[in-house]
Formats: sequence, C-alpha cells, structure tokens
Amino acid sequence: MATRWRNSVTWRWVVNICRFILGATFVFSGFVKAVDPLGTSYKIQDYLTAFGLSELVPDMVPIALSVALAVLEFGVGVHLMLGIKRRATTRLALLIMIVMTPLTLYLALTNPISDCGCFGDALVLTNWQTFGKNVVLLICAIVVFITPWNMVRFLTKKMEWTLSNYSVVFAFALAVYCLATLPIIDFRPYRIGNNIREGMVIPEGAKPTVFDTRFVMEKDGVKQTFTIDNYPDSTWTFISAETVVVEKGYEPPIHDFVMEEMETGDDITDDVLDDPGYTFLLVMHRTEEANEGNIDLINELYEYSKEHEYKFYALSSSSAEAIELWRDRTGAEYPFCIMDDITLKTIVRSNPGLVLIREGMILNKWCDSQIPDEFKLTAPLEELTLGQTKEVNDLKTLGWVCVWFLVPLALIVLIDRIFNKKNNNKNNNKLIKRSMRKKIVAGNWKMNMNLQEGVALAKELNEALAADKPNCDVVICTPFIHLATVAQFLNQDVIGLGAENCADKVKGAYTGEVSAEMVKSTGAQYVILGHSERREYYKETPEILKEKVLLALANGLKVIFCIGESLAEREANQQNEVVKAELEGSVFNLSAAEFANIIIAYEPIWAIGTGKTATAEQAEEIHAYIRGCVAEKYGAEVADNTSILYGGSCKASNAPELFAKPDIDGGLIGGASLKCTDFKGIIDAWKK
Ligand code: PEP
Repeated sequence: MATRWRNSVTWRWVVNICRFILGATFVFSGFVKAVDPLGTSYKIQDYLTAFGLSELVPDMVPIALSVALAVLEFGVGVHLMLGIKRRATTRLALLIMIVMTPLTLYLALTNPISDCGCFGDALVLTNWQTFGKNVVLLICAIVVFITPWNMVRFLTKKMEWTLSNYSVVFAFALAVYCLATLPIIDFRPYRIGNNIREGMVIPEGAKPTVFDTRFVMEKDGVKQTFTIDNYPDSTWTFISAETVVVEKGYEPPIHDFVMEEMETGDDITDDVLDDPGYTFLLVMHRTEEANEGNIDLINELYEYSKEHEYKFYALSSSSAEAIELWRDRTGAEYPFCIMDDITLKTIVRSNPGLVLIREGMILNKWCDSQIPDEFKLTAPLEELTLGQTKEVNDLKTLGWVCVWFLVPLALIVLIDRIFNKKNNNKNNNKLIKRSMRKKIVAGNWKMNMNLQEGVALAKELNEALAADKPNCDVVICTPFIHLATVAQFLNQDVIGLGAENCADKVKGAYTGEVSAEMVKSTGAQYVILGHSERREYYKETPEILKEKVLLALANGLKVIFCIGESLAEREANQQNEVVKAELEGSVFNLSAAEFANIIIAYEPIWAIGTGKTATAEQAEEIHAYIRGCVAEKYGAEVADNTSILYGGSCKASNAPELFAKPDIDGGLIGGASLKCTDFKGIIDAWKK
C-alpha cells in the first residue's frame, strides 16, 4: 500500500514541487550570500556578539563561515534543482533544515537580533517570518527525503560529479570575487543611483523613530557614556559613538546617516547632502582594521579633490586615538567625521571604501583596490564619465552571472561528452580493468527440458565448444535432475555446471528441497540465486536469499546472484534504489573474501523473456552504478574484479553491443540458452 502510494503520479508531483521550492530557496539564499559575503559575515559577527562568543572566535571565522554558507546553500540548491546525487543531497538538505528550524524558533522567541539575515539585504524577514519559512522548507525537505528517486534528473549520472564540483567552485569564485571587490548587486539603500536625502524621508503622517547618539568618553581611566545634551568638556577623551533607538517608529530606508566632524563634534550632514558640488566619502568603519595597501592612491585622490575644490571626508567610528594613529601611519591630511559603525558597514562593503556623492546622490562607489588613480582622474570630474552617475542594471548583472554559470558549464558538458565518446571507442582504462575480471556467459535452462533433452543439449554444447574454444567462461545452470548426469561427461574446464536454486536450510525434513551441499555433491560449481521468478513466484525474501547465499558459499559453490527492477520501478526511475537494496539485503553482509565468489546478474524483470532488451546504454548505466555500489562497500579493487552479467532477452544479435560496454561482463541467458546454436552465438559475441 505504502509502496503504491509512494510510486503514485500525485506523490511524484508533490516531491518535484517540494524539491523546486527547496532548491530555489537554497539557490537564492546562497546566491545573495555569495554576492555579499562581507554582509553575511557582519551578521554572523552580530550573532556571536549576541551569544557572547565574539571574543572567543578568531576574526577570520565569520568571513570564512559566510563564504562556506554561501557555497553550501548554493551547491545544495543546484543539486536539488538538477537532481544531482539525490539521496545524499536530500539527506543534507534535511539535516540543514533540522538544525535551522529549531534555531530560528529560538531566535524568534528570544529576538537577540531583529532580522536573521538568511537572505542578506535582498529580502529582510522578521524572525517569526523566518521561522514560518523554515517550517515550510522543513516539510519540503522531509518530502524529498522520503523518496529522493522521485526527483526527475536533468543530467546523466556521468555528469553529476562535474556539475556538483562546478556549482561549488562557481559559488566560491563568486563569493571571493565579491569579497575582493564590491557586491555585484547592491541590495542596500546606499546603492549607486540612490539619493541619501530621499532615503531619509519619512512620509507625511508616519511616526518617526527617535534616535539618540551615545558617546563613550574616557577620563582618568574611567569610561562613561554621554548624550549630546550632556556632552562633557575637553578633559574627556572620545572613545566611540553609537546611535541608539529611543523610540521605534516608521523607519525610512536610510535612518542613520549622521556625519559629525571629529574635531568640533558639529553635525555637517545637511551641508554635505545639500552641497551641489562633488564630495568624496572615504569610508573606514574601523581605521584599525582598514587595509593600508592603497594609502598612496587615497592621499593622491585627496590632493586631486583639493585641487578641484571637491569636498573630501573620511568617515569612521573609530576612536580619536585610532584615527590619530591612522594619520601617523598613512600621512592622511583629510578631515575625519564620526559615523555609526553599522551605517558605515552598510554604505560600502570595503574597508576602506570610497563613495562619490553630489547633492546626496550616490554617483559611484569603489572598493579600496579599485580607487581611481591619476590615469583615470585626468580632468575635473565634470568632464569625466566617473563623475557621472554610474549606470547600474541589476537584471543585466544577473544575466551576466547566468552566462558565467552556464557557458563554462556547457563547455564542460561538451568536453565530457567528447571525452567519454573517445573513451568508449578506444577500449579505455575501464576495458583494461575489465580484463582483470571474468567474462562469463551463463545459461539458465529453467523448467524446460526433461532429462534426455537436457543431456542431449549439454552434449551438443560440449562438442561445439571443444571444436571452437570460447573466449569467455561458459556455465550452464540446469534443473536439479540434470546435474549429476551432465556432470559425468561435461568438460568442466570449458563449461561450468550450476543449479538454478538451492535450499535455505542445511539439511533435514524439508520435503522436496535440495540443499547446497547436495548440489555440490553432483559436481556442480555454481548456483543461481535471487532470480526474479523465484522472488516473485516462490516469495523468496532478501532474508531467505541471504541464508541461501551463505549456505552456497559455505559449500564451495559460486553464486550467480540476480538483481533487477520491475517495469513499474523502472518507470518510476527507481532502478538504482531497487538493485542497491537487493544487494544490501542479501549479499552485502558478506566479507570481501566471500564476496569474491559472487557473480552479479543484473536482470531487469521487464526484459526477461519478453523480447524487450534494455538498450546497451541503459544496461551500462546501471551496471556502472552496481559496480559503484560494490566499490562503495568493498573498495575499488573488489569492484573491478566483480563480474556483472546482463540478463533479459539477450540474443546473438544484441550480445556484441551489450558486451562491448565496459561494465557488462557477459550475460545470463534464459530462452536463448535452450538451443546450442543460439547459445553459441552469444558466447561468440566475445570474439567480435
Ligand atoms: C533469465 O531468466 O535469466 C533470462 C535472462 O531470460 P531471457 O534471456 O529469456 O530473457
């Protein structure tokens, strides 16, 4: 019942809708973090401070975490959207949501920080909104986790690793680029083209938020906080300034842009914002942490500003002492204004960063490595393009990001396709490795011939292969009644003999059963176990098969272990999960030494005796997957040595194409093993 429900079309739709909701959210969240890694690191820093951990954590940690988070979210999102590594990806997505959902509930309840920062500045959510969003995502993560195989794949398995690595490298490169320069898309109110003055406007009738600036001052080793109303005399030394909310009201996008001259304490905000001329703002939220690599450029720029009578202010939240130190170290002569630390971090994501404004309008921004030099500042700003408002088009930028993501990706796919084709044509490494394992063609006579007919066929085959030696191991698996007789004359150096089944009991009162020991005593060396007909008609469960396998091996028989999916499972794209579960259920309990006596036969049930064959590509894909499962369990060497046969309407006409595939090591043949010429035709496929 549960299986039918999980295979239903409705459920598949549900899974795919959930995977896209989850995937798109992760991609968006990872992307906005990669675009503004410094912003995310500030948020992480805020969390550390709120939880009293900031002192314990080295400075590099928030930024490293921020990049890692961007890469993780973007990578998981791309994996979900494209259906890459579905099982591992859905597990990881669920794990993330299991951690995040209770955490955001805690944040919503305790409110240590007003917005969680999960979508950076692109979409600011309250903590309760974030929790609600996470509950939805958690449900989606659970849905996709239950049946990951219902997620439609948009890539071949071969491409999965390439894309998996590429999405990670892309997100990492994007984050590093934005870290080294400025966010390629600016989601903050101080974006180029915005007017600071307009950003401060409170609509008529809206209740304004009341702010107050607190000054931390020091005298005789004693620190004290003052407001503008009780600002102390000059015997006190300024330490830092902070703008605090006294009463929350309508908050315009820009609510904290206040410039106070360092020396005088005068508020010059209006003068600067109303100035019809150019003003350069050198933003250094902390001079102690500012990069000094481009100080010469900054000093030259100041000279240029003086020469053309443009205003130039450095903005910082550092103490007067720290600013003096900066002046000493860099020879800075430009005036300093004090501004709130968070505001400065919001204005430009670079320390130092440069902003050019005119009448409050932000015309341009530069990170410290891109500050314009003498080669760019060749004339007054009025005559230069960099004196005009820089053209910013987020859609265009987004388009370029997509191009940067998709073009190299298309190239990788193309190279991979060409390379793989070459490999296939040239009997590449995989084929060389295959020579290490046995090529086998095994017949499964089933319940078709009486003793005389069976013996006659075995004799015919014996003679045919004596005359024309096969290029592979040949095995015939017969009903029990043929075994002892056929064993008498069969040249077992050329043709191996096997049974089609054996009991799951050692010996005793099991009327009609034939034990592994009895099979072995006939002279047989092989036994077929797990055939779909026995699983279906005789209800052989993985547990029963596990017992049979152990007994067969204990009695020195080699096991041809059959696995394969039904038509419904293939249509639901569940073949990989099915074969893996069959291996796990009955043979992956074996030691590596025991497993060396297992031959796997992949037989899609829908192809057995139906005339429908899996295409060589379909068969190769799943054979490679099965070998991967063996490698995962026992290591690459065991996997390389394991023969994996294909079974299902295999004939002399299609065998050469199937056997040419690197992971197909031969066939288990039903119908076509009942006639010597048909069977020999398949054996001869190894000679082509
Ligand atoms: C089989 O039953 O193992 C088998 C592969 O049958 P057929 O070749 O007839 O499809």
